[in-house]
Amino acid sequence: MRLSDRAQDARSQMLAAVAAVSRLLFGALLAALACGPACAAELELSTEEQAHLRELGQARVCVDPHYAPFEQLDEQGRYTGIAAEFLGHYSQMLELPLQIQLTESWAESLRWMEQGRCDLIAMLNETPARQRYMNFSTPYLQDDTLIITRDDIGYLEGMSALRGKQVGVVPGYRLEELIRRDYPDIQIIPTLTVSDALERVSTGELYATFEALRSALPMIQQQGLGNLKISGQTPYQNVYRVGVRKDDPLLLAAINKAIATLPPLTAHDIVERGFKVPVINRVDYTRLWQLAAAALVLFAFLLYRNHKIGQFNRILAEKNAELERLSETDHLTGSYNRLKLDRELQQELERAHRYQRPLSVILFDLDLFKQINDQHGHPVGDKVLVAIAALVRQQIRQHDRCGRWGGEEFLILCPETTVEQAAQLAEKLRGALAQHRVLDLITVTGSFGVASLQPAESVAGLIQRVDQALYDAKHAGRNSLRLAAA
Ligand code: GH3
Ligand code: MG
Ligand code: MG
Repeated sequence: MRLSDRAQDARSQMLAAVAAVSRLLFGALLAALACGPACAAELELSTEEQAHLRELGQARVCVDPHYAPFEQLDEQGRYTGIAAEFLGHYSQMLELPLQIQLTESWAESLRWMEQGRCDLIAMLNETPARQRYMNFSTPYLQDDTLIITRDDIGYLEGMSALRGKQVGVVPGYRLEELIRRDYPDIQIIPTLTVSDALERVSTGELYATFEALRSALPMIQQQGLGNLKISGQTPYQNVYRVGVRKDDPLLLAAINKAIATLPPLTAHDIVERGFKVPVINRVDYTRLWQLAAAALVLFAFLLYRNHKIGQFNRILAEKNAELERLSETDHLTGSYNRLKLDRELQQELERAHRYQRPLSVILFDLDLFKQINDQHGHPVGDKVLVAIAALVRQQIRQHDRCGRWGGEEFLILCPETTVEQAAQLAEKLRGALAQHRVLDLITVTGSFGVASLQPAESVAGLIQRVDQALYDAKHAGRNSLRLAAA
């Protein structure tokens, strides 16, 4: 079971299941052990016990400084956790103040107990080795011990699967004693704390470690060790008791009475609170906000990109239109070029034939233009061409089209125009041309051919006839106009 990302649900379910099992186990334990047949019994200490506790004045308690959520000493030396709460209740019931001994490790706590430097150990399992130097109260909490490995290891069929492997165990923990006795070929590597062991399993330094059913997941979760999983179960049940110094049977008796008298509901609350994993019910809004922010950034980026693409497309369309216009335009005069004239001619011819409409063309050539170039220079000749093109554009109708047919030759396409109407326009243009002074000093005349489309005539046929008419006009002495023969 991977504890990060996609196994979040599985983990929550597992934790919920663990919590449920724990409640059941604990409920049964309380009913059987703490409550007994006479539930909610009164705490009745014998006179001897009362006198002894008074004489004792306080109990020195040794604890595991690093075993959250069961028990721990925080940085200020405060004793907290499930065992701390149970012991706090027993202390109140017995009116026996506690003095927590600040040890560095669990091993040290055991040593201190052995040396008589503590009267009580808040929570531990009974083992033969420990029995030598302490007494054990009746149990007040129990659960199973699980095998924890990395998540790339399959299900482990019990402890024998760990033969020859390196497993992390905190020195002094009962497991050390039990594993050495039952599975001597499992290699025990001492770790400072359970957290330390988990960390080292996570990095692959150790193969496995062990943890109580109820605290395994919260621990793994709190340490953020997402690559750990529960791989199997040990036969070792944790049956937690209070350890009492060997030479104090009266204290033991008093503790046992307190354990038996603690109301089941109180015990239940302690366990519930102690194992509460904030993550179970907590939605990780940080993740949610991060995701929302990422989505927003992505959305903004897409919007921006869309906008940019739109802008780019508009520019592209404008450029294409410009390109198309340029490809159809004579760069000197700004009129249609030959290519565009050819296309327009073809289109208008087809339309005229289809609808049997009149279509005429005027072709004119500037007279003796070579002389203008010779006299005034080519650049002036250019200016004359530009001026003539502009003049023509002014004179023709909106539907007429004028283009540069070549050199100093222009063609005007006149849809819906009869040969007579075209001749009229040509005559008007010829007059305007003759009168126009370019740059206030140059006059230029033109020779005009006019032709109108004949039934079934092709563009080539029409052009050939209008060209002939223009040729005729030239030969007639220039600055004149000729109609093409039908
Ligand atoms: P005609 O009356 O017989 O047409 O005499 P013309 O001199 O106009 O005819 P010709 O064909 O002998 O010469 C045409 C001249 O037009 C020669 C050429 O340099 C000039 N021309 C053609 N295109 C351009 C142009 O783009 N710019 C300038 N400045 N001159 C041009
Ligand atoms: Mg000419
Ligand atoms: Mg010419």
